[in-house]
Amino acid sequence: MLWPMAAASSLTLALVHFRRWLGKRDEWANLLFSVSAIATAVLTVMELMIARSQTIAQYAALVRWAIAPLWFLTVSLIGFVRVYFGTGRTWLMLSSLGLWTLTVIVNFLPGQNLVYSAMTGLRAVEIGGSTFFVGEGVDNPWNTINYLGTLLMLAFVVDASISLWRHGMRRRAVVVGGGVTFFYVVAGVHSALIEAGLIESPYMIGFSYLAIVVAMSSELSRDLTRAGQVSRQLQQSERGLRDSEERLQLATDSAGAGLWSIDLRTQRLWVSSRLNKLFQVAPLVQSTYTDYFNLIHPEDRNAVRRAAQRATETDTPLLAEFRIGLPDGNLRWIAVRSHRRCNPSGDPDRMMGAVIDITERKYAEAEARRHLEELAHMGRVSTMGELTATLAHELNQPLGAILRNSEAAELLLQAAVPDLDELRAIVADIRKDDERAGNVIDRLRALLKRHSLVLEPVELGQLVDEVVSLVRADAIGRHIRLETDIPANLPLVQCDPVHLQQVLLNLISNGMDAMSHAQDEYRRLVVSARPAGERMIEVAVSDCGAGIPPGTVSRLFEPFFTTKASGMGMGLPISQTIIAAHGGSMRAENNATLGATFYFTLNTATAGSMD
Ligand code: ADP
Repeated sequence: MLWPMAAASSLTLALVHFRRWLGKRDEWANLLFSVSAIATAVLTVMELMIARSQTIAQYAALVRWAIAPLWFLTVSLIGFVRVYFGTGRTWLMLSSLGLWTLTVIVNFLPGQNLVYSAMTGLRAVEIGGSTFFVGEGVDNPWNTINYLGTLLMLAFVVDASISLWRHGMRRRAVVVGGGVTFFYVVAGVHSALIEAGLIESPYMIGFSYLAIVVAMSSELSRDLTRAGQVSRQLQQSERGLRDSEERLQLATDSAGAGLWSIDLRTQRLWVSSRLNKLFQVAPLVQSTYTDYFNLIHPEDRNAVRRAAQRATETDTPLLAEFRIGLPDGNLRWIAVRSHRRCNPSGDPDRMMGAVIDITERKYAEAEARRHLEELAHMGRVSTMGELTATLAHELNQPLGAILRNSEAAELLLQAAVPDLDELRAIVADIRKDDERAGNVIDRLRALLKRHSLVLEPVELGQLVDEVVSLVRADAIGRHIRLETDIPANLPLVQCDPVHLQQVLLNLISNGMDAMSHAQDEYRRLVVSARPAGERMIEVAVSDCGAGIPPGTVSRLFEPFFTTKASGMGMGLPISQTIIAAHGGSMRAENNATLGATFYFTLNTATAGSMD
């Protein structure tokens, strides 16, 4: 029962792997395995026949023919190890094959078999109720050569397994290499013991081989299971990839974003179809960066080029807004955002980015700026209204002086011989006073003119002095000391001088209002400035007045918040909006002792410029 079962198992495994080899012809391990398994099946059947031989001649002939499947087994096993492991010394492999082949040839020479040079008899052996026959005779010396070939083969397998172990494929080395070695030794020792007449047993080499075949098959099948798992994982990740591509498509579609990526080595450009739609470009098979760059408005190109260069050379992301001229003659505003990507070894190899159409936003921003300018203008007009008394005073002085000088000139002209030198001096005075009055009116006109926000580098000290000179007369009338504390070495600030004057005027007149009930010796208002951080200047307007009423600090900048009977509550919100438009911020707090201080920040001229 046992022998046919072992043979059938071997055959089944042989067929499974042979079918696999038919499906994938380059997987030679499967074919070599099938040959081993078929040879094992044949050998097992022949072993049973040997054990049941009735005559010496039959026994000798069967032993002789059984050497053939053994040869196939050895050759295919060596081949399997070589192909499957990819290791092993060639000389060991060839010498083992050579010795085996030589002894097989001797085996088939007339009147011989490899085991016995002459057979003398058959001995009956009783095992488990069955009778088996074991041969007796003169040992063939060639059999020693055959054992030597088998030893060399084992040396080859052990050596190949050790190399495989060192390469890290330990399981395969142990299961196949260890399995082959162990069962070969078992089979060899068992056969040698039978042939030496030391044990009474039929040949059972086939069973050992069956164990080897099972070990090999389990490894081959593991590979197959793993391949199956990998392909399932691949399918899953492909599905995941498709999903995330769809999600990305959805996101870019709803954001209206066009995508692009450029290979930094080959300069090959890929753009999404939406980007082509945004740029109104027909899809090209091989488009280049320049095809798109040339659509950028000439005035914006340099800035974009500089930003793109910085982004490719450093880790700074590319963030730029620019105009493009469309073939239909329209201008659109585009915002681009991108950054460098690195390959697995960490070298930057491509830029990937997105563009969106921001034309609507740009129009909305322009509209908001226009509103701000209108509001600021209104604010200035109302501040001027409050300053009328001061201005009247400022104008009165030169006008009064002009009047007095002209009266004096009239008197001089009534003399018989007018003093011409005196008259010349009077006319020069009149001219000077006229210029003074003219300056006051010019400054007023500049403040009252509707005016868009234009940032330029400005010397803060000078600007503060101008504002102070506008309100000085008013301050004197209210017994208020106006002081400035602006360090001479302060960097220039990036601002619109007219708008900034408006902010300062507003804060100063608020401070003066707050001191209207203070005692005379405390009526002091200081405008100071100091650097705040690397690229900012902080300006402070500090008074010694009543201070901000408790609980109102958070409401000061709300439109229409006022505690004054005739107040509008628009001064601070307008000022705050102007400062925000300059990229700064405004805050207020009560002083430790008396009064309140209003702070605002401005960018220095270097921080505010584009580069
Ligand atoms: P208005 O001056 O028309 O009231 P503002 O927006 O300029 O409008 O000021 C709003 C309110 O903030 C003022 O009514 C006042 O209560 C408070 N405030 C402004 N500046 C000061 C200050 N220096 N000290 C105390 N309170 C102030």
